[in-house]
Amino acid sequence: DGFWRLSKLQVSVSDDPGKDFLGLCDALLQEIAKVIKFPVASMLPPEAFTVIRKSFDARKMQKEPTFVYTVEMDVSKLLRLEPRTWDFICELEPRTGLIDHMPYERVSGDLIGIINDSRNASEATDSVGSGNHSFPGGLHKVPTAEKPKVAVVGSGPSGLFAALVLAEFGADVTMMERGQAVEQRGRDIGALIVRRILQLDSNFCFGEGGAGTWSDGKLVTRIGRNSRSVQAVMKTLVRFGAPDSILVDGKPHLGTDRLIPLLRNFRQHLQELGVSIRFGTRVDDLLVENERVVGVNVSDSRESLLLDNQNLKYDAVVLAVGHSARDIYQMLLTHEVDIVPKDFSVGLRVEHPQELINSIQYSELSDEVLKGRGKVPVADYKIVDYVDGNNSSVTTKRSCYSFCMCPGGQVVLTSTKPSELCVNGMSFSRRSSKWANSALVVTVSAEDFSSLNFQGPLAGVDFQRELEQRAALLGGGNFVVPVQTVPDFLEKKLSASTLPSSSYRLGVKAANLHELFPSHITEALQHSILKFDQELPGFISNNALLHGVETRTSSPVQIPRNVETYECTSLKGLYPVGEGAGYAGGIVSAAVDGMFAGFALAKSLGLYQGSM
Ligand code: FAD
Repeated sequence: DGFWRLSKLQVSVSDDPGKDFLGLCDALLQEIAKVIKFPVASMLPPEAFTVIRKSFDARKMQKEPTFVYTVEMDVSKLLRLEPRTWDFICELEPRTGLIDHMPYERVSGDLIGIINDSRNASEATDSVGSGNHSFPGGLHKVPTAEKPKVAVVGSGPSGLFAALVLAEFGADVTMMERGQAVEQRGRDIGALIVRRILQLDSNFCFGEGGAGTWSDGKLVTRIGRNSRSVQAVMKTLVRFGAPDSILVDGKPHLGTDRLIPLLRNFRQHLQELGVSIRFGTRVDDLLVENERVVGVNVSDSRESLLLDNQNLKYDAVVLAVGHSARDIYQMLLTHEVDIVPKDFSVGLRVEHPQELINSIQYSELSDEVLKGRGKVPVADYKIVDYVDGNNSSVTTKRSCYSFCMCPGGQVVLTSTKPSELCVNGMSFSRRSSKWANSALVVTVSAEDFSSLNFQGPLAGVDFQRELEQRAALLGGGNFVVPVQTVPDFLEKKLSASTLPSSSYRLGVKAANLHELFPSHITEALQHSILKFDQELPGFISNNALLHGVETRTSSPVQIPRNVETYECTSLKGLYPVGEGAGYAGGIVSAAVDGMFAGFALAKSLGLYQGSM
């Protein structure tokens, strides 16, 4: 009895209805029958099977590209077969590696449902979670005379999920966001693209939904796709308007157009729970008494006289500010908060015509399949290389890899100051633009920062800023991005005046990008590009354009915190979470971190008893 998981079930592209079909097709049922050695596929009851993952695999070593499925089998439904048929199943000798019949926990609902259900549950269950934490099980809401007051600073994925959990448990939550609500933020981003006006607090990094709103909205994560915590986040996103397909798709993706209404629904739910949301409210300082945070000092980020240096008192402050809030790191140092530099990655964003990537990746696909519009996903890639990176004193092994690949997307400006220039990628749900872009980045660490004479806890931030300022100078100002074709970058020469087209809307200018970085970083990138071309022949192309510079890949620092309580180890009452605190890298992991911090803080505040 119970559920079995059947994995790596392959259905060829020609037999599959296509990427948008997420149910059971005949060919899949036949593959299931083969795997469980069931003689007559058509006698299998379809209701016994649920597709829980569908990915497209176009790797070259295969004869024909396939869709690869993971299916959940409800054995109790198979048991309803008439006894003679069942005899076959009892003799099951599964093909090794394809069946996992360990009992596993199913996530029955979204986060809100789970909190509600678990209030009466008696035992903690799952041990799969993020880091050392399991998903909360036996929680009991504790009635409190007065609601504890919590400030959540930042409305990115980590802040939103922390606020959601805390509010569901009955805290009096205020969420403060320096940027604007998505409606106004959309207008600000429009003004940036059309009129080159950069609002310092409402842009591609700052505003409702955080850095991931005007993004590709990829929901892939390296923290365990099947963990209950990730599943709970995904189901919560579905509750707020994401399509069900994100629960099944092997590479789930939302796109900016879907993220915006989702965030509006999220906001509305928080408000219904009583969360007070203050947009255009920038936290400038922490109020500290007796070595404990007791509140925040805020100002109106648009200086429209609404707020003027207000001091607001709270029982706890969740700091979910992302890694572009460099002013916050500086402010934390004034309170002697420990900040530890950490490795991250820098590089360039490469853009190819999407058709070129399609032809590289799908060269094995027949014209007929390719013509069947929309049957296979628009092609992407993921490449990695390991390089011996020398700088003046140290030899280190560094990785060079593609990152945040946006098929059918566009290159966007993620600067938060006019003097600093950096880029990233976004897309809409249909991924229908004619370009494919991706970061190509190299890991950097303390030795690299010191090679430019940057020391101390914020050495990585200084290193980022230096590269961004150099990029702004190379572009010549006005947010024009410096570019170089891939062959010219390899040959260290300026690209000719006729450049291949770019999706970047504020203009590009030919520049010597090979001079942007310390030479060992340029060499690592050059070395890796040659390797990438072996893996993806045609990657080095005159139509491949490198854009400078990609610096904000992940946080350059970490703020140490207690692993159980999530409280900052160097300042009581402060809860650093998400990417800016160095505990996440991406939308889903940031959301999971915020969610667990919410649980930990709710417990510290006495809002529930039970196990985590
Ligand atoms: P953030 O999302 O950065 O949110 C922090 C919030 O805090 C911001 O809204 C900011 O305005 C606010 N804030 C900062 N300082 C203050 C202050 N002093 N007072 C008040 N508010 C403040 N990740 C993926 O997984 N998939 C993708 O496809 C993807 N694409 C991306 C595309 C782009 C263009 C960018 C920039 C990022 C992308 N990312 C993507 C990364 C992802 O957005 C981040 O990893 C994620 O948003 C981090 O979440 P967070 O909550 O920790 O911080």
